[in-house]
Amino acid sequence: MSFQTSSARRVPAPPPILAPNVLPLPMKLLNVVAWVVFLLSAYHLWPSAERLHTPSRFHLKGLSVLDLSLILAFVSSLLYLFGFFGIPFLQPDLPVQPPPEYIGMDEKFVASVPMLSGCDEEIVKAVISGEVPSYTLEKQLGNTRRAASIRREALQRTTGRNLEGLPIDNFDYDSILGRCCELPVGYVQLPVGVAGPILLDRLEYYVPMATTEGCLVASTNRGCKAITESGGAISTVLRDGMTRAPVVRFETAARAAQLKFFLEEPANLESIALIFNRSSRYASLQGIKCGLAGRYLYMRFVCSTGDAMGMNMVSKGVQNVLDFLQNDFLDMEVISISGNYCTDKKPAAVNWIEGRGKSVVCEATIKGEIVKKVLKTDVASLVELNVVKNLVGSAVAGTMGGFNAHASNIVTAVFIATGQDPAQNVESSHCITMMEAVSGGQDLHVSVTMPCIEVGTVGGGTHLVAQAACLDLLGVKGASVEAPGANASRLATIIAGAVLAGELSLMSALASGQLVKSHMKYNRSTKDIIAKN
Ligand code: ADP
Repeated sequence: MSFQTSSARRVPAPPPILAPNVLPLPMKLLNVVAWVVFLLSAYHLWPSAERLHTPSRFHLKGLSVLDLSLILAFVSSLLYLFGFFGIPFLQPDLPVQPPPEYIGMDEKFVASVPMLSGCDEEIVKAVISGEVPSYTLEKQLGNTRRAASIRREALQRTTGRNLEGLPIDNFDYDSILGRCCELPVGYVQLPVGVAGPILLDRLEYYVPMATTEGCLVASTNRGCKAITESGGAISTVLRDGMTRAPVVRFETAARAAQLKFFLEEPANLESIALIFNRSSRYASLQGIKCGLAGRYLYMRFVCSTGDAMGMNMVSKGVQNVLDFLQNDFLDMEVISISGNYCTDKKPAAVNWIEGRGKSVVCEATIKGEIVKKVLKTDVASLVELNVVKNLVGSAVAGTMGGFNAHASNIVTAVFIATGQDPAQNVESSHCITMMEAVSGGQDLHVSVTMPCIEVGTVGGGTHLVAQAACLDLLGVKGASVEAPGANASRLATIIAGAVLAGELSLMSALASGQLVKSHMKYNRSTKDIIAKN
């Protein structure tokens, strides 16, 4: 089936009340007939009317069949013509037949569903019937907005659900085609708040956070204030390496071990790096860590990836190496380019210990008076709570990388605002928060150590206009002109700084018993409270 590529024309729907300017030909003819009947019956009734007014004939029995049919024709043509001219009291009685797709759906829904132009209407029906696969619409129509609208309409009719609340307009569907999202039917709006300024490495940042959790931005903002008023935070990038670990199988475990030894030989690593780095001028292989389970070998490639988060880049590099190894290890069977030893988007000790993406530590010394004035608590309480909750409590829970209060809250909000992959919040939120009394117990030294902040300023969703604006706010939009990778590293340190602020503020709220009170103020609408009470 081929389609016209004109843009979709929408008309109000469902359109049962026919306005004169959209009347089809048979209805126009019917109107003419009604006029003729009206005039003829009026003409013929006129002398009868005279008779009707004479008392002797003012009785039904006195009317002839012709009189009765003339009266009937007169009244019904009059009613019809009233309806035609839009006399409202007659309109609801006119027969309304929704299109077959709407039958069985509730009336409110039917009334709100926009109709498409004749051509689009046909395509919607073809999508519903399965004649046209929904995923081919963009390619077939050559118009991403129109494809989204047709897919959405088909979805509404198929499910009987109204998507009216899901926005579709004012979005650049071209910008996501083949990169960010398939089968679009609209987009979700998220509020973006700003926390800051936070003084970090002697620069001030305003941190954009996309969230629907009340209190979160306000709390992070309070932490930023405490850090900035205490002279700021300092961050250090400890390591930078994205990973991918394919799994291969051999006939024997001994043979799998041979490949492990081969890969661990420094001279071999050099030649493998040459092959790996062909994937991109920004890719640079740092090492390969092997894990073995019987005949299966898991090879964790670690690679710096410039300003890209790097998953695509590393995967391409790994494929190059696998092809190369296949020449020397003919008996090697590639099971999967990802064998989960990477480990992407799942909690794993290997990430916590070895790191993935950017490993960052960020620290600040908060003056005692700021702890009191801004955070409304004291140094000793914070230190004690950190040990009992973030260290011991997390140990009791058997956490892995969860030695913190709520790092993932901040990580996820900044990830969404800046176009990162939100699923990578799993390992990116690994964090150990430390709090110690310094200066003879006067001040608080606080730090967050985060081994797996997986971020990029190119690729993924970073090019989308809203997300790019948030990156721009931080001064890290796109590829770094100074040094490849500088923007992504900077973004990782800003996230660590914001986590530091978030940890300080939430821990203070817990230490002073303010948490529930402030959540009731910022995190519950009045409506909810009333409903619950
Ligand atoms: P990822 O590897 O994070 O999934 P993409 O492959 O989508 O990201 O994006 C990386 C692309 O951006 C590559 O094609 C790379 O050549 C290009 N690129 C441009 N400038 C840079 C840079 N400074 N650092 C990394 N990649 C860059």
